[in-house]
Amino acid sequence: MKSPITHDFTDKVVVITGAAGVLCSYFSKEFAKAGAKVALLDLNQDKAQEYSDEIVKEGGNAKAYKCNVLELESIKTARDAIEKDFGSCDILINGAGGNNPRATTDNEYHEKNGLEEAKTFFDLDQSGIEFVFNLNFLGTLLPTQIFAKDMIDKEGANIINISSMNAFTPLTKIPAYSAAKAAISNFTQWLAVHFSHVGIRVNAIAPGFLVSKQNRTLLFNKDGSPTERTKKILNSTPMARFGEPEELIGALMFLADENAASFVNGVVLAIDGGFNAYSGV
Ligand code: NAD
Repeated sequence: MKSPITHDFTDKVVVITGAAGVLCSYFSKEFAKAGAKVALLDLNQDKAQEYSDEIVKEGGNAKAYKCNVLELESIKTARDAIEKDFGSCDILINGAGGNNPRATTDNEYHEKNGLEEAKTFFDLDQSGIEFVFNLNFLGTLLPTQIFAKDMIDKEGANIINISSMNAFTPLTKIPAYSAAKAAISNFTQWLAVHFSHVGIRVNAIAPGFLVSKQNRTLLFNKDGSPTERTKKILNSTPMARFGEPEELIGALMFLADENAASFVNGVVLAIDGGFNAYSGV
């Protein structure tokens, strides 16, 4: 998809966590195409390096950094290296996040009978819940503590967090991920207010349902026909289709671009084909 609007991030230092992942590797490439110096941060340094190499090969400016968003020392080390390579951060994208099977129930509803073999709400593992909460919430808060310090009073400085559809209304089976993303939306508003006197805007995007490598087998059978979950999702999406990762880019660039969104602060922008607006009736 080609955006009709061009955004210029020439010489802006864009720091992206979770940059070896499906969405944030894509975001990294798009920011590089728009002229930014992109720092790709991830636990998986090799994968981040692969994406960074691709960007450089195509003429962009990027570097990969190993970083655990749950460890302050690791984030500080990455920050110091980025500062030397590119300068201080202008735009922070808090992309690291995700769910975990240990925090997921097998069934949508708790029934009186027939759950003997199933992992129910009562079986959810505390460490699994903590893992999901920490990765999504603390994994956004800690990098913000480290990078936002350098962003104070920098022209055009802003932060974009990644929330989700399930932050508005929780999805079945994934209570921890839903609650953690609700915390991200809430924290986005809190930060937006907190930093409003020092020139850092803070917003979030809330992607709806996208088909990615990881969830393809959940959404489609081997013969390509839709699974029951896909039917439910599409029935609940007024536009009756999945989104594509490139359909996030317009919203992301808009929020990041001071020329387009200088008065946009504290919003959680849903990109969901109308899913969140639809009551189902
Ligand atoms: P992904 O699993 O492809 O990528 C996540 C990346 O984060 C991975 O590269 C992983 O190595 C990295 N990571 C994990 N733990 C880390 C840590 N402690 N420190 C640093 N890096 C760490 O995920 P994705 O699908 O690209 O999703 C990106 C963001 O978008 C996540 O916050 C996710 O919750 C959110 N999101 C995704 C979708 C979707 O459909 N894919 C929808 C809504 C929201």
